[in-house]
Amino acid sequence: MSSEQSVKKAAELLRQGATMLSEACPVCNSPLYRLKSGEIVCPIHGRVIIAKDEEEEKKLKRGITLDYMEQVLVDSMSIIVEKLKSDPMNSEVIVQVIRYLDSLERLKRIRDLGQAQEK
Ligand SMILES: [Zn+2]
Repeated sequence: MSSEQSVKKAAELLRQGATMLSEACPVCNSPLYRLKSGEIVCPIHGRVIIAKDEEEEKKLKRGITLDYMEQVLVDSMSIIVEKLKSDPMNSEVIVQVIRYLDSLERLKRIRDLGQAQEK
């Protein structure tokens, strides 16, 4: 998301009655906003949780980054899959889809590893 988009999103949050907080997003350092519902959101990453200490911040940062990566991968993959519809035999596109699936699988493994360490 461009900074212009994040500014627009922030303006939209303020219009909805959200308040800007002194805390920043652990991933992108954008100011965070508290919604009327009490939820804390980053204009770029959506809902975030404020960490109590450094250790927790690291964990949260990792979780947010992985979530964001997954979202980007899925979005990009759906664009490529659309291409397949009009050109189902295009092997280059098929290879791209396989690469995305590979990345998603690795992402899942990394996430599972992180959760196993927490236990
Ligand atoms: Zn953020």
